[in-house]
Amino acid sequence: MPTYDYPNDRLTTETILTVPASWVTVSNGKLISISDAGKGLKTWYWKESVPSSTYLITVVAGEFDEVKESWRGIPVTYYAPKGRGDRLPMNYGRTPAMIELFSKKIGVDYPWEKYAQVMVDDFVAGGMENSSATTNTSASLVHPKLAPEYFTGEDDLISHELGHQWFGDLVTCKDWGDVWLNEGFATFMEAVWTEAHFGKDQADYERWNNTREWFGSSNLWNKPIVRHDFDDSSEFDGNAYGKSGWVLYMLRHQLGEDAFYRALKHYLEANRGKNVVTADFAKVVEDATHTNVDQFFSQWLYGAGAPKFDLSYSYDAEKHQVALTVKQTQTVEGRVGLFRVPVEVEITTGSGPKLYNITVAKEKQTFPLPADSAPLMVLFDKGGQVLKSAEFHKEKKEWLYQLKNAADLGDRADAVVALGKMKGDEEVVGALGDTLRNDKAWGVRATAADTLGHLGSPSASKLLLSALGSNDKPWVRSRVVSALGNFKDDAAIVAKLNAVAKQDESYRARAEALQALGHVKTPTALATLDAAVAADSPDGFLRNAALRALGSLGDDKAVPLLLQWSAAGKPIDSRRAAINSLARLQKDDQDITKQIAAYLTEPHFPVRMAAIYALGGRGDATAIPALEALLKSDDLSIEMTPMIKGQIARLKKPADGKPRGNPGSGDADEESGENAGSENVTTEQRLEKLERLLQEMSERLKSMEKRLPPPKQ
Ligand SMILES: [Zn+2]
Repeated sequence: MPTYDYPNDRLTTETILTVPASWVTVSNGKLISISDAGKGLKTWYWKESVPSSTYLITVVAGEFDEVKESWRGIPVTYYAPKGRGDRLPMNYGRTPAMIELFSKKIGVDYPWEKYAQVMVDDFVAGGMENSSATTNTSASLVHPKLAPEYFTGEDDLISHELGHQWFGDLVTCKDWGDVWLNEGFATFMEAVWTEAHFGKDQADYERWNNTREWFGSSNLWNKPIVRHDFDDSSEFDGNAYGKSGWVLYMLRHQLGEDAFYRALKHYLEANRGKNVVTADFAKVVEDATHTNVDQFFSQWLYGAGAPKFDLSYSYDAEKHQVALTVKQTQTVEGRVGLFRVPVEVEITTGSGPKLYNITVAKEKQTFPLPADSAPLMVLFDKGGQVLKSAEFHKEKKEWLYQLKNAADLGDRADAVVALGKMKGDEEVVGALGDTLRNDKAWGVRATAADTLGHLGSPSASKLLLSALGSNDKPWVRSRVVSALGNFKDDAAIVAKLNAVAKQDESYRARAEALQALGHVKTPTALATLDAAVAADSPDGFLRNAALRALGSLGDDKAVPLLLQWSAAGKPIDSRRAAINSLARLQKDDQDITKQIAAYLTEPHFPVRMAAIYALGGRGDATAIPALEALLKSDDLSIEMTPMIKGQIARLKKPADGKPRGNPGSGDADEESGENAGSENVTTEQRLEKLERLLQEMSERLKSMEKRLPPPKQ
């Protein structure tokens, strides 16, 4: 549809669609009528009376199954491609509860005349928040046998798009440089739902992960959230999503829950139906809370980076005082400055915990804090309320105490990571094993499993093996199995992995076992994976895992099978897995490169995307002309251009001058993409991460929208 391609114009719409009588249509606004148009056709008439921006106009038409619910009399509908309607209630049934929660929290009722969610095949992104009529990928229709294996289901995607109905659709950024006003808020609303529905531990765990992910994306570091020096939609980056969500979390923490939501309500009421810039938001926060947020906005939104702390303390027994020394170690340059942040410090002694509020503002400061005896535990930024990294110099016994006793998930997870650096220490391994069995938060248990895997000692492998006997939930069990993939040449582990791959109550655990067998490269792995490709499972879940594992295994004998499963006619997810693995085999065979390049022009977006990344990772420069030709084609979605450029750059110049991948390890190939050098590395990194996450069918599948920039906006 030819349209004005900028967010700062708003309009009402009428959409009149004449389609085959068996079809369903979905568009913005209220369904006014469906009338017979003769010759086996029907005409659908949709009318949207609330103005919204042109990029939020949508039309979907085809054969769909529909589920109808309602929220306070407003229609709430879900659509699946015909035949998959049974998947709607399980994956989407929490939508009315989300609408209720958001309406109450924000203090502004859901603003549109209906809420439809249409799931379509071959969608160019995870989701797109068209006003009153979200479009999502059909990958969010998880098979009923698999859906219970994901702790938060598809709720991140669903709550994100729903959050946009207020933030993005009702109130819209005036230009893309302020896109955080859309994406940061939608990302924040995911956490609001998570906290309310899945609890504080889950919200804490996701925030803890987001921090690590953001700090791991070094290309985001020197870019402010609000900026105008972008092209190719690169402004839809991990700052607009993850970091902005974090900034809103910090703002809420600093203002307090009541004041924060008072500000959001005022923001929506004052700007309802308007386009806004960041200054508009600052103004409403000040009006509603009488708090000057200039400095907060200046460092977090107009400035770049985040504080990196080096921390240590000493205890003075005579003064009964802890001297906490805080250094900010980030390099002050460009838009990155010193940060001024309020921080909560908890000091625990034999008589219990005490909380102190300090404000860190200088490069180096020492804070004297009372303590009646030598501390058992000192927590800087208790619970992780600030986006930061911290190197806290503590002794082993302090970390062990923190691992067991810290009240908040983030502090215990930090202890897991710190202890994981102490190789060859049996006391540490034992403590992590205890955490794996007993921590009340699954995220900490799973992190302990990862860490034991990385420690790699015989005692660690025993603890992981015995944890498999405990029947923990699939989201932990799969991580334990995955951790076992770190141990090579261990007969007990290989036997266990084979057993889990063949038979386990968790499909995710079975998939991870197949993957792990590829990693450990046993002599029988090829036969096992071949058999798994031949067998059936819900949505081919295990087949796809086996196809991916063949890439890790690195045995060129798998090439014919991968060629077969990458070909047109096979299920899309299997093709993606096969294409990715194919690219990792027989790297000197240019015919394989040619075959993968042939998939670049496929109509299926996910296949194209798989081919683009597979070629980048393969490292065969003969693919460059095919990628360059693709760049010139006129049917690319806007986010594909930077993706393709990134892969061309990868092929022209391997990451960091290092050879691509490590011939000895299949894993290295997957990881090396993370650091691929390119001018569009931001988008590229996120998309590669997306690709890998998708392929692993990890629980983070649901958040892929966040990683796929503009179509979703
Ligand atoms: Zn979004």
